[in-house]
Amino acid sequence: MRDIVPKLLIASNNQGKVREYRFLLRNSGFDIISPEDAGISETVAEEGSTYEENASIKAVTYSRLGQTTALADDSGLEVDALGGKPGIKSARFAGEAASDVEKVDFLLGKLAGVPWEERTAHFKCVIAIVTPTGRLELCQGECHGMISFEVRGEEGFGYDPIFYLPGKGKCMAELPPEVKNQISHRAQAAHRAQLILQQIYSQFVDSHNC
Ligand code: IMP
Repeated sequence: MRDIVPKLLIASNNQGKVREYRFLLRNSGFDIISPEDAGISETVAEEGSTYEENASIKAVTYSRLGQTTALADDSGLEVDALGGKPGIKSARFAGEAASDVEKVDFLLGKLAGVPWEERTAHFKCVIAIVTPTGRLELCQGECHGMISFEVRGEEGFGYDPIFYLPGKGKCMAELPPEVKNQISHRAQAAHRAQLILQQIYSQFVDSHNC
């Protein structure tokens, strides 16, 4: 058998995200590369109205640009007391240029006066995988918790300092990355993505051996 390693392009210019996926998809069979590795500098605006749409548009675009299998995700935080907001607008909830600290403060302000038992929320992540032949696969993951009254912890990013996990007795930002990588919405979606990628990898190897 020839030694063939197909490439998987992660459709994100966020190096932290690429690093996270390198770890989460380490058993996929694919050589995981960033847009920079592939010499791609284009960016894709997230203008869809669902996570699925945004992830699919990014994966389709990067697969075409890189002439390879591509994986894209879209994620957000859904707060029950806010009717599921900020959802797909999580990154821009407090304004286009808002920092993580400003986003967290803005959300805490929106929840002022909301009692503990009504502060339920979940993170959601949708992953789209697109092959050069145009096969599109979608999978998702969710992580459930509560919005705390105050920030706790220094790890992670975004809303992690106010996302409290009752099962851990801690906020997400208090957990080391290896623990977050076992329970997060992205980890759960990535686990499903890895199973799909293993299947695509097998078909790729079969087709290159006949
Ligand atoms: P995107 O999927 O990278 O576009 O993320 C959208 C936004 O959702 C981020 O900017 C964060 O504000 C929020 N978000 C997504 N995943 C996480 C997470 O794991 N922790 C904290 N915030 C997150």
